[in-house]
Amino acid sequence: MKNRPDVEAQRICPAVESLPIDPASSMAPPIYPASVYRCKDVDEARDLLTGAKAGYIYRRNGHPNADHLSHKCRQLHGAEEAVVCSSGMSALSLALLALVEANDHLVVSNQLYGQSFDLFSRETARLGIEHTTVDTCDLTATAAAFRPNSKLVIVETLTNPLLRVSDIAALADVAHQHDALLLVDNTFASPALCRPLDWGADLVVESLTKIMNGHSDVMLGLLAGRTAVWSRVEPTLSAWGFCASPFECWLAARGLGTMALRVERASDNAAAAAKFLADRDEVAEVHYPGLTSHADHHLATRQLAGRFGSIVSFTLAGGLAAAERFLSATAIPFSPSLGDLCTTLSHPASTSHLRLAAERRAALGITDGTIRLSVGIEPADWIQTEVEKGLRG
Ligand SMILES: *Cc1c(COP(=O)(O)O)cnc(C)c1O
Repeated sequence: MKNRPDVEAQRICPAVESLPIDPASSMAPPIYPASVYRCKDVDEARDLLTGAKAGYIYRRNGHPNADHLSHKCRQLHGAEEAVVCSSGMSALSLALLALVEANDHLVVSNQLYGQSFDLFSRETARLGIEHTTVDTCDLTATAAAFRPNSKLVIVETLTNPLLRVSDIAALADVAHQHDALLLVDNTFASPALCRPLDWGADLVVESLTKIMNGHSDVMLGLLAGRTAVWSRVEPTLSAWGFCASPFECWLAARGLGTMALRVERASDNAAAAAKFLADRDEVAEVHYPGLTSHADHHLATRQLAGRFGSIVSFTLAGGLAAAERFLSATAIPFSPSLGDLCTTLSHPASTSHLRLAAERRAALGITDGTIRLSVGIEPADWIQTEVEKGLRG
């Protein structure tokens, strides 16, 4: 027997008139996978699409899980505005496309994340956006890199892999003296350790893929900033299609719940690992801003919230052969990302900095014997044992 057509039609359209529970009473937030929402009438459709009315109509323009996550991130950063995007790189691309145009110039740290370099040298350069790379730890050199058309300065709070610290307040002053804005990629610090907007930055980018989510199961980015620089951000996000998936936003919102605890524990473990490494003969150099021997220790003490982050880099005296022995002797996985619950390690010369010429790597202090640890939340003793196994080869 055939179903009645109206019953059949109801089954095909799965929209629910009323849910059996009030979603607000659920202890876990709902996930809204809808790509499109229903409009009451033409007025409502027009008002939603023009932004005259707050609400949802098409996922690329915004959805509840993105708003839930960006609201939490906005609070964490003390930001006036925040949006989430499909990756850290899309958040950075969004900032560029919203704020600069052809014939504008960027002043860019010479120690940025590798893919950010690629973005400036291969992608935005094709759009006529020029850039100069400079050691942004040198404020005099940074000031000299400005041109009349400089619009944006881009630095990272803590650099990869040597953990140099950007003096955000001083860089914001230099940028503003030249009528430019300061954008800080805060991925290595996270808002648990640093809120760049509090130090005078205009915009902050986070790769939520890393320690903010913390479980290696999400790829998302955050752009946050001041209302005064925000007018083009949301239309650009929608037009270029940088939107984030509802499920990933839901996962990242869950990860954020433990972020402060994870960053605390991982930073304490990293400080212990750095100290242990500094005392070992196999190790030529340790880079950790919590060590008094680090070039930026005082700045880090002032600018980070009492801890120094979960990333430690070190250079093995035995070079590439020692690095290869380290990788095969330890149970710490060689996984070229960072910010997981568990300790992972990377070899910058063959991963994040592979595309740099060997001389450029050497100038940045990265050798074939450099290893970067992303320290996790395991018991500190376990980490020390596994590092020791690596050192013994
Ligand atoms: C990973 C990373 C990015 C890019 O983020 P994705 O989420 O991988 O796109 C940008 N900056 C830094 C410092 C990073 O570590």
